[in-house]
Amino acid sequence: MPIKPDLKLMQAAIDVAVLNKTPFGAVLAMGDEIFVTAANQTKSLSDPTAHAELLAIRKLAGHLQKTDLSGFTLYTTCEPCPMCMSAAIWAKVDGIIYGCSIGAISEFMDQINVRSEYMNKFALKQVKITGGFMENECYNLLRWYS
Ligand SMILES: [Zn+2]
Repeated sequence: MPIKPDLKLMQAAIDVAVLNKTPFGAVLAMGDEIFVTAANQTKSLSDPTAHAELLAIRKLAGHLQKTDLSGFTLYTTCEPCPMCMSAAIWAKVDGIIYGCSIGAISEFMDQINVRSEYMNKFALKQVKITGGFMENECYNLLRWYS
């Protein structure tokens, strides 16, 4: 059964991105309850892996003291890169809802051009992916903060 995208949850991902002046924000939620938010911190942490989705997964797994995040949905302003998609697969999240595609992000910065749907083909447990949700709002983040 597909996951019905929730405007409030994507808005929370957009808000945390704006707060940190980055195009990249992420939220992990169960149902309509937000458990963690995170924004890209690659520059502030001098960590090329500090993507919003990865930080959100680490934060929630640490908080819950478990590696299996089944039942959670990852909202992210931009399509997960292959690193973050792998992390989401390892974490066994149920679903991913994203705003802008890797193609759209590529208009603003270099990307590893491997789509999340492609990565999903190799997943042990399929992640339900919905793209293009609140795409205009997420695209504005790329325009403002790239
Ligand atoms: Zn990433």
